[in-house]
Amino acid sequence: MAERVVIIGSGPAGWTAAIYAARANLEPFVVQGSESQENWDLGRPPLGQLAITTEVENFPGFPAGDLTSYLDDSIDEKTRKYMAPHQKEGVSGPELMELMRQQAHNFGTRSVLEDVTEIDLSSRPFKMKTSGGTEIEAHSVILATGARANYLGLDSEKKFKNAGVSACAVCDGALPRFRDKPLVVVGGGDSAMEESTYLAKYASQVYVVHRRDELRASKIMADRALANEKIEVKWSTVVDEILGDEENGVTGVRLRSTKDESQTEEIEASGYFAAIGHTPNTDFLGGQLETTDKGYVVWTVPFRTNTSVEGVFAAGDVADDNYRQAVTAAGTGCMAALDAERWLAEQGIE
Ligand code: NAP
Repeated sequence: MAERVVIIGSGPAGWTAAIYAARANLEPFVVQGSESQENWDLGRPPLGQLAITTEVENFPGFPAGDLTSYLDDSIDEKTRKYMAPHQKEGVSGPELMELMRQQAHNFGTRSVLEDVTEIDLSSRPFKMKTSGGTEIEAHSVILATGARANYLGLDSEKKFKNAGVSACAVCDGALPRFRDKPLVVVGGGDSAMEESTYLAKYASQVYVVHRRDELRASKIMADRALANEKIEVKWSTVVDEILGDEENGVTGVRLRSTKDESQTEEIEASGYFAAIGHTPNTDFLGGQLETTDKGYVVWTVPFRTNTSVEGVFAAGDVADDNYRQAVTAAGTGCMAALDAERWLAEQGIE
């Protein structure tokens, strides 16, 4: 029998959609994504981007303080063994996501830790197959597969992830390790401008490393960053290597000129922020619905999560290259569940 709602993806958008759909008695089925090494390496593991961050200080409802006893009560011991330790200030990304998953399951959500490998949106009920061989039919689908930050691909980026390497200044910039220290931001777009301006509030100095001698960013954002006396652009330059050690994490970067490759420079930095764009996790859709030129799913109705395929809704970063916050993803997850519920009712599917 066809599921009424299948949610693909298990970040804040997916679980919030599941919580709302479950409470509407739609018995949602969540295809979480698999724990494959490839998914971890690409930065799209189950539970999404928060599964690969440390503290989350900006998700409403998790103020600073020791939440240990609450977390001990709500998550079983077996699961806790695999979780990053509780940070005592706010909540950690993995903890927040485990709590969302638990909350969705508490209301009767079912889920599998598998990837969707095939999907057919050409006729209803929609059909899909997973990496574990599960075949699913669905009257409605909520896409919540998120996006992943682009990195340069250096081994040192992997080595120092969460030890000074980040792709989200708004999430991580205020952490103690970055305060009053020089930092590096790579990229020349609006994200790089926004992130460097944000980081300049905390850092002693921010170096923007850009591969050309002209920024891609909009003039207004570029002007604001360039006027900030703590921000210096390293023009026509790329990051060759991130420098650091086990104890201190990132301690600096080696830069190389794109105009004269023999020219290198080492600068001291306690943080490295990649701001070279994101890639939405939409490959598996095979172009069956409308996306932007960068692959983001297009919301086709203002203030609704409808996509170009009737019965398919999208929530979170897979359809949002602008806000990209856990709380906005959760918000659109809620919207998608409500949109799906109303659409199913209109179709007479109960
Ligand atoms: P983007 O506009 O695609 O810019 C990416 C930047 O990274 C470019 O400057 C690019 O260099 C550089 N880059 C890409 N790959 C690189 C590599 N391998 N090595 C070195 N540099 C590399 O991405 P974005 O800045 O994340 O912005 C995405 C979208 O969100 C844009 O539409 C932007 O306007 C929007 N946005 C808006 C705001 C806002 O209005 N508040 C804030 C952030 C983002 P090149 O320039 O040489 O290609």
